[in-house]
Amino acid sequence: MGGRSVLVTGGNRGIGLAIARAFAEQGDKVAVTHRGSGAPEGLLGVQCDVTDVDQIDAAFTEIEAAHGPVEVLVANAGITDDTLLMRMSDEQFTRVIEANLTGSFRVVKRASRGMLRAKFGRIVFISSVVGLNGSPGQVNYAASKSGMIGMARSITRELGSRNITANVVAPGFVVTDMTNALSEDQRKAIIDQIPAKRYAEPEEVAGVVTFLASDAAAYINGAVVPVDGGLGMGH
Ligand code: NDP
Repeated sequence: MGGRSVLVTGGNRGIGLAIARAFAEQGDKVAVTHRGSGAPEGLLGVQCDVTDVDQIDAAFTEIEAAHGPVEVLVANAGITDDTLLMRMSDEQFTRVIEANLTGSFRVVKRASRGMLRAKFGRIVFISSVVGLNGSPGQVNYAASKSGMIGMARSITRELGSRNITANVVAPGFVVTDMTNALSEDQRKAIIDQIPAKRYAEPEEVAGVVTFLASDAAAYINGAVVPVDGGLGMGH
């Protein structure tokens, strides 16, 4: 393994950065998107907002010139904008769907060209336990994350015969800026419900992603793999 062209959207920090580093450690050529922060050392940073199709195309062109066509794509970029259903504006709903779901669709569509030509591709969507279990105040986020499952499974049916896999990782609560925004009371209430009684480290998600992109996982397609300390058992 190693030496493949990998793109991780939102790989400049958080879970995406841990994933990018895990691929780089095994010798892959790794590009990450950022929206102005730049990329940590050892990774190729490409400026790209996944809500903008022209920026996506420019980012892929840059990666193709530097590393060759993207062989492994991790659709990780994502946001939350929480509030209860009754208070959620159309704009709040649409903004989260645009970034998390439509953004993933756009990057996967752009990557699929090269993957079809190469007759090889590994696509991993970073969904969430919330996409399967739901969560109060996250109607927009949950819809975006469960949408990824239908998308991955449709891609599996369309492209599975071309040696392209599309799988979904559904993390529970992971220590990142996203969860650091929760209050201490919220954190306690969440940990009470997790059989592991702790949050995950980003590296624990990264290990599953590199496995799904490996040769050992060539026959896993359209799967949803929870990495949640047992929080979502049964889904
Ligand atoms: P962070 O908030 O730490 O990082 C989010 C990343 O997404 C950043 O790199 C950010 O880029 C990028 N991003 C957001 N919007 C866009 C956009 N429009 N275009 C390009 N990049 C964008 O999040 P996490 O690392 O915690 O989360 C990563 C993924 O994992 C998300 O999809 C999240 O939903 C999912 N997840 C997280 C869990 C957790 O507990 N943390 C649990 C389950 C799933 P920038 O730096 O430019 O803002």
